Amino acid sequence: MEIYLDANATTPVLPQARAAALAAMDQDFGNPSSIHSTGLKARALMDAVRARARRVLQLEGGRLLFLSGATEGIQTAVLSALNALRERRASGDTRALTLLYGATEHKAVPEALKHWNQLLGLDLPLRAIPVGRDGRHDLDWLRAELPQAGLVCTMAANNETGVISDLDGIAALLDAQPGDLRPLWLVDGVQALGKLALRLEARRIDYAPFSGHKLYAPKGIGLLYVRDGAPFTPLQVGGGQEGALRSGTENMSGIAALGAVLAALEEGRSFRDAATLAQFRARLTQALQEAFPNLQFNAPQALCLPTTLNFSVPGLPARLLMDMFDAADVRVSGGSACSAAKAQPSYVLEAMGLPPSQTTSALRLSFGPAADEDFIAEACARIRACGEALRENCLSIEDNHPLPADGVTRFVVDGACCWLVADASRRRCVVIDPLPQLNERLAQWLRCQGYQLAAVLDTHTHADHESSAQALREAVPELLQGGTPDLLGWPAAQQRLELGRCWLTRLAIPGHTDDSVAYLLHDEHGLRMAFSGDIVMPGQLGRSDFPHSAPLAYLDSIKRLAAAVGPHGLLAPAHDEDHRFATTLSAEAAQQPLLGRALAGQIEAAAFAAELTALSEQAGLPRCGPMACGAGAATQAPPPQALSLDGLRALLERAPHTCVVDVREPYEQRLSQLPELPGLARALSAVPLSRLVDALPQWLALPAETPLVFFCRSGNRSAQAAQALRRLGHEAAYTLAGGVALWPRTAAADASLDAALLV
Ligand code: PLP
Repeated sequence: MEIYLDANATTPVLPQARAAALAAMDQDFGNPSSIHSTGLKARALMDAVRARARRVLQLEGGRLLFLSGATEGIQTAVLSALNALRERRASGDTRALTLLYGATEHKAVPEALKHWNQLLGLDLPLRAIPVGRDGRHDLDWLRAELPQAGLVCTMAANNETGVISDLDGIAALLDAQPGDLRPLWLVDGVQALGKLALRLEARRIDYAPFSGHKLYAPKGIGLLYVRDGAPFTPLQVGGGQEGALRSGTENMSGIAALGAVLAALEEGRSFRDAATLAQFRARLTQALQEAFPNLQFNAPQALCLPTTLNFSVPGLPARLLMDMFDAADVRVSGGSACSAAKAQPSYVLEAMGLPPSQTTSALRLSFGPAADEDFIAEACARIRACGEALRENCLSIEDNHPLPADGVTRFVVDGACCWLVADASRRRCVVIDPLPQLNERLAQWLRCQGYQLAAVLDTHTHADHESSAQALREAVPELLQGGTPDLLGWPAAQQRLELGRCWLTRLAIPGHTDDSVAYLLHDEHGLRMAFSGDIVMPGQLGRSDFPHSAPLAYLDSIKRLAAAVGPHGLLAPAHDEDHRFATTLSAEAAQQPLLGRALAGQIEAAAFAAELTALSEQAGLPRCGPMACGAGAATQAPPPQALSLDGLRALLERAPHTCVVDVREPYEQRLSQLPELPGLARALSAVPLSRLVDALPQWLALPAETPLVFFCRSGNRSAQAAQALRRLGHEAAYTLAGGVALWPRTAAADASLDAALLV
């Protein structure tokens, strides 16, 4: 069962609303403007729904229009208000023309204000009303600004935090303005419908837009309340529907569905009362606090809708939490808009003055008033299961009980790579090329696993910044082992660094810097990979123009590396700008002509050094930027080869030796149940993207025609994995388009999704 906790984005459609919509499409399909019986029936239905909406909103007067949703309602209200201000100004009255809007309004409001202000050529001043730490409008600021204001926009409840505005406080300030200068007032009622009494008339609100799909009606139907006497300008004109205030044939199935929702609200069926909703919130709060002991709520619950919880978990990015919840079939939303690469801070939380740690990692959990006991109980159970998954992966701050780590893990920060090599047999590990941004997380991981830290190694000293190796050692003194480290962290007087079943040796490769080394990872089967620093990176060679570079030694170092690892030995680099994970000398030689000539013995050391310098200059890199370590042309990624689910089915049937790889992180894998697919169980393995490099040698040893199909939640990570394999020469690598998000759960869902995707 999916636990849908994103009701502030949209809600499912209530069964009786669906039935009403179907009936309106099936039997009562008339056009309410037609005067024959079919049309009259439609009009009667529409009138009845409008009357019901008036009762629910406790309206005696005013106009209530059906339109497509809140965004249209906001445009209509803003256009109406701005047109009135334009007329007033044109008549010579230039007082009170500022447009005020709450700093945490939904983007539809400030964008509509900007758009119409510009389009109407008004150029009226626009100002955001600041909010306090509690998310509420600063009423002192508003009091001071109101004498200049022509329009005030303040939402009833915030969609990200659930913070309820002090509408009575705002109304009192507006009432205190002289009658002819009382600004027009727009209150976005989207998140309040069915949850708060808005008292639109008593508060003398001029415009209030609503969206049906935030309260169990379908998308595409909304309402706009307009106070009697408030100025009005239609957004669209034509056939004169809705009393000529909003032309266009009405969305009758949407109106019918909205009517069914309003009926349920009026009759007190289907929806929980405020006390029950508050109790549901308390249960969810407790489950969240148990799962994430250091969680912080981003808004005071006493001021919020009981149906919205906005929180951050220090140290855990919103994206990680969202992926994990999604794997547990719990749908939540980033309180901030997460782009694929980087989380954007939430402007709502920023306006509240919360620190970046909270604004960039916020998560919103919202449920609708139709939620019931069973739903909340299951939601709490899943949240607790997420906490357990974090504990197994050392991602919780307390009570961790880790699964023992083994193998090579990669961490990336802005293209810089840090490697962790762990050996479960003797519970020892090594960190290579530590990064300051990761120190806290690595220290927590090390303490949680309780592994001995055999060394913290750098592949070279840096021209422009200090290594964070010493800081990491100091963070976990109790786990440190081995002799006094040299400048790069290698324990003095040791030839090889034993980890257990695997061990490291060193290879000097001066060039990028005069002290550069590669660390070679061996096991009983031979060389597994080389941590090669900046000498040869995916798509680029290291720079050699730092004061402590050794350009003339570079060529020899490449040859020494080639002798040690061979053309196809895996190189795990210190930088990877575009998700290539690892590379080989042969793959790089094919892309980088200078390297090709170096390996073929076609160039001398001095000429090589000169050409490398020229390449760095061509690339226009700053001389000493921390991330500007290489020189070379970015190469085009091969397009990912995507398979549909049907394609995967066919492949599993046709090629039984297919390997299907789940590249989601272990906490996601643990929480999710994959649906049955014939042949899948035999083909399936789990290799999280952070461990991809560990598995590369075994995949690259497979026959070239063996299909490797990667999948993840949405298809992004699996596309990276498939491209990495293709770049390294395994052409038969595929990504499952859309990931498990599009993986249907039942045969019926399967058929309907297939049909939908065909359209
Ligand atoms: N206002 C608020 C507070 C909202 O939450 C939303 C939707 O998220 C809107 C306006 C816009 O609603 P719609 O996209 O349905 O037009």
